[in-house]
Amino acid sequence: MKRWFFLVLGLIGVSSGCTRLACTFQNDLDWKLQQSEHFIFYFRANSLAERDIHRIIPEKETGFHTIINRLNVHFNGVIHYYMYNPEERGQIGADGHANAAFETVYEIYSGYLTGCHETAHVIAQQTIGSGKTQMMLEGLAVALAGPYRGNNLISEMMSDYKRSNRLIPVHELIANPGKYDEGPFYVQGGSFVNYLLEKYGSDKIKRLYTTNRDEFAAVFGTVYSIDLNQVEIEYFQNIK
Ligand SMILES: [Zn+2]
Repeated sequence: MKRWFFLVLGLIGVSSGCTRLACTFQNDLDWKLQQSEHFIFYFRANSLAERDIHRIIPEKETGFHTIINRLNVHFNGVIHYYMYNPEERGQIGADGHANAAFETVYEIYSGYLTGCHETAHVIAQQTIGSGKTQMMLEGLAVALAGPYRGNNLISEMMSDYKRSNRLIPVHELIANPGKYDEGPFYVQGGSFVNYLLEKYGSDKIKRLYTTNRDEFAAVFGTVYSIDLNQVEIEYFQNIK
């Protein structure tokens, strides 16, 4: 039943200009399924994901609860979580991708736990709305996911950026995301969003999340009652 339900979603996705991933899905029913409280996991028979599903499920469920609690939101949906084999990387064109509007994640599983970045994208869009700047969209997912790409602590990476004079000004993260490599951009966006989340709470983050680039500084001043440049000074000083 659920599989047919999602097939319909996939077809709707294609008709509304969704990614080619949905097209792939229509012709690809060769999945084994396992459901947990908030996810349906799809994986190939005899794959690494099938071997490790007993540890994948608690990782994703723990991450789900962390995200819900830190954002202070309610999400009653079920996330469809596709785990492709490493040799299928060409099908999704990246290590991971969220089709948040359809509560679906596509990821490569190589035998290492993949964290909760894509889950955060789904929950954020479903509970807050569409992220209007790359900094907020990716920064919030990085902030909620914990360590970056496995074991890398954001705080340690930020210390390294500061020591080597590679801190990116916040207005640049907002205005010119394409100018920077993915690693520094994601980590520094994530670090700044995490700082705001910890210091000022989730309600203000939700306002910023749906604010577009051109209005960002003005909305920031209204929501936080402090100038963005002043917060940036305090934030940079706070990096050890
Ligand atoms: Zn992302």
